[in-house]
Amino acid sequence: MKKIAKKDIHKLLSQWQKEFTVFVPSRETGVAEMVAWDGQDTTFLNWYRNTIIPPKANFLQNIEKMFDFRKDDGSYNLELPVAQEQKQLIFGIRPCDARAISIIDMVFKDAYEDTYYLNRRKNAVLVGMGCVNPYDSCFCTSLGFGPAEAADVDLMLTDTGDEFLIEEVTDKGKELLAKTEGVEEATKGDEARAGEVKDMAYQKVTRKIDIKEIEKKLPSSFDNEEFWKKIAAKCVSCGICTFLCPTCYCFDINDEALKGDGARYRNWDSCSFPLYTQMPMENPRVEKWRRVRQKVCHKYMFYPMLFDIIACTGCGRCIRLCPVNWDITQTLADMPGEAPVGTEK
Ligand code: SF4
Ligand code: SF4
Repeated sequence: MKKIAKKDIHKLLSQWQKEFTVFVPSRETGVAEMVAWDGQDTTFLNWYRNTIIPPKANFLQNIEKMFDFRKDDGSYNLELPVAQEQKQLIFGIRPCDARAISIIDMVFKDAYEDTYYLNRRKNAVLVGMGCVNPYDSCFCTSLGFGPAEAADVDLMLTDTGDEFLIEEVTDKGKELLAKTEGVEEATKGDEARAGEVKDMAYQKVTRKIDIKEIEKKLPSSFDNEEFWKKIAAKCVSCGICTFLCPTCYCFDINDEALKGDGARYRNWDSCSFPLYTQMPMENPRVEKWRRVRQKVCHKYMFYPMLFDIIACTGCGRCIRLCPVNWDITQTLADMPGEAPVGTEK
């Protein structure tokens, strides 16, 4: 284990900036998100709890050009972007958001190889920062990890006051730290202090869900139209909960064309929108309750069936940022478990 004084973080980032595009939390755009470091500002250390826009945006961009096309003599010529493997270092990613990256890797890396995603993801270094001040909407401890979890990052920082303890988690993290100047060996006392900070953070996550109960009740609640209608009633289908969810990865593909020339883009999409499932002859999720059911079941039932992991990290964004205070933990707690007799599918 190593450590560094907080006042020296600037030196650490400056060294890493020579090799990577370093991303740090910023509110410059008016919304807290990871942005490329300007080489100066470290004031995020004073306000950062978590970003509003999750770091999935560093790998799956909210909008990106896939290729240009041009119509010549009746056929189309495609111009693919030059594949560039980007070296990004994301500094301060929270354990829940790092877990979310591991979760969406299962789609973009394992289920198929998405080169757009992988060109950014392959050489990325994740430098995690444990939470010392979780929100009351956080419930990560119910999902089998917690605010100090290091399993999904390369290096893990724990805030011990005037210093950060640095844990080398992966070989990539170890190699990076080995060539970084200005870090010191941590003492047993530093490690003990970091342990106390981690325990305290864990205790501060007081919102809980019961995964065992959910696994039992969700399949048998699936056909309970009455329940889903009730819990969907106040949702206004704005899509915020899905756009800002670190594990939601749905996208749409659109062509922007003018007289045969144009470009194909992909952009984040949301299962909260009625048009999301529009097909030429029908739309299976016109009613809002079906869309809300899909959002919950995809995370807690379908994703575990496919990848053996729940696609929710308990980051709490969907609770904090929903304009009508829709609360996924309340929905999961209120689930009756049995569909009333005669409920339509
Ligand atoms: S953020 Fe709230 S209102 Fe908007 S789609 Fe999600 S649950 Fe519905
Ligand atoms: S469903 Fe909500 S709590 Fe779970 S990962 Fe998505 S935004 Fe976070």
